[in-house]
Amino acid sequence: MSGDDPGVADVRVAGCLFCRIVAGEIPSALVHDDELVIAIRDIAPRAPTHILLMPRRHIGSAADLTEADAPLLGRLFAVAAELARTEGIADGGYRLVSNVGRWGGQTVDHLHVHLMGGRSFTWPPG
Ligand code: AMP
Ligand code: ZN
Repeated sequence: MSGDDPGVADVRVAGCLFCRIVAGEIPSALVHDDELVIAIRDIAPRAPTHILLMPRRHIGSAADLTEADAPLLGRLFAVAAELARTEGIADGGYRLVSNVGRWGGQTVDHLHVHLMGGRSFTWPPG
């Protein structure tokens, strides 16, 4: 890797809350950690299980993904399925959702997927 290239795993954006959590600068309840993805418990859970999965690398939202992110997304969804099993919500079913932009309800501009379970959900969401 050249001196100017920090590597995809290390790209972060100053002031981004989730970049700071990834870096360990802000404490979180970590439930998974690998070279591509981390998962933390949501600080304001809206369901008995409410976990946030996110890339280590800063990506603003799902709108910024490209085909080159396929390995990252494969990992993220595989980890979500594994966490659903270990959290005991796999059999009952659960919801995976990624909010995009203001009307989508996104409040933290670092891509994340909510893993929510332990209760039933309505469709469509509000
Ligand atoms: P969204 O509104 O889809 O962007 O989701 C952002 C989520 O981040 C919300 O569910 C918040 O409760 C959660 N959140 C905000 N700050 C923290 C934090 N410090 N640790 C864990 N979760 C957080
Ligand atoms: Zn970030």
